Amino acid sequence: MHHLLKNKKAIVFDGDGTLYLGETLIAGSLNFLAVTKQARISTYICTNNSSKTPEEYHKKYKNLKLPFTQKNILISTHSSIQALNERQLRSLYILGTDSVIAWIESFGFTHTKSNPQAILLTYDTSLTYNKIESVTKLLRTEIPYFATHPDLVCPTEHGPLPDVGTWITMFKQTTGRTPDAIFGKPNPKILDPILKKHNCGLEDIVFIGDRLYTDIALGQGNALTTVLTLTGETDMKMATESNIKATYMCKNLLNLI
Ligand SMILES: [Mg+2]
Repeated sequence: MHHLLKNKKAIVFDGDGTLYLGETLIAGSLNFLAVTKQARISTYICTNNSSKTPEEYHKKYKNLKLPFTQKNILISTHSSIQALNERQLRSLYILGTDSVIAWIESFGFTHTKSNPQAILLTYDTSLTYNKIESVTKLLRTEIPYFATHPDLVCPTEHGPLPDVGTWITMFKQTTGRTPDAIFGKPNPKILDPILKKHNCGLEDIVFIGDRLYTDIALGQGNALTTVLTLTGETDMKMATESNIKATYMCKNLLNLI
């Protein structure tokens, strides 16, 4: 643990499968956060799950007794907003929950079905066939197409549920199109706000997560330290067979302490 945290500025955790599963804490989460607090290291949570606003996440974390303020919550939607701003795209068709759409609009974007400049898929837990139809029609107009994250499934207490990556596959089958860009993990730009805040580089950060192709892939080809925890999607066999390798691996966060 001492070795892992030495000279680090921040520890970033994935959410689902790492600190909690749905509405249940994973054993060791609070113990581990107590240790980082004692070591005076900043902690963040970084999730691809774009179904909630920071305010909604903050409420959820308060109920779970996880000590993250809204400023310490990074969602794939944050890096998507940043990237769409850079591309100067203002009118969007957003596949998303009402609260997420309203939150994105608060950054100066307009959500519209009529002649939007681009399409953005977020994890819309209020998805309807009607919305699937709207996205499909707009994809045929060849406007830019983006997604907040590539995750195929979202883990829950009752097993995995279809997530944005699965919808991307559905739209590929229907229209032949795949997103022009995906802004969440494993795109390391999602960590930019942390690098800026601490005026540091990826080598000063530790990322702890349970999924190989998003969390651990964040650290491939750069200096980010990654820790794979086997409390979520990945088991030892998957970890051993994968080309994506974490810097460290642990059975759970108690084991890591
Ligand atoms: Mg996860």
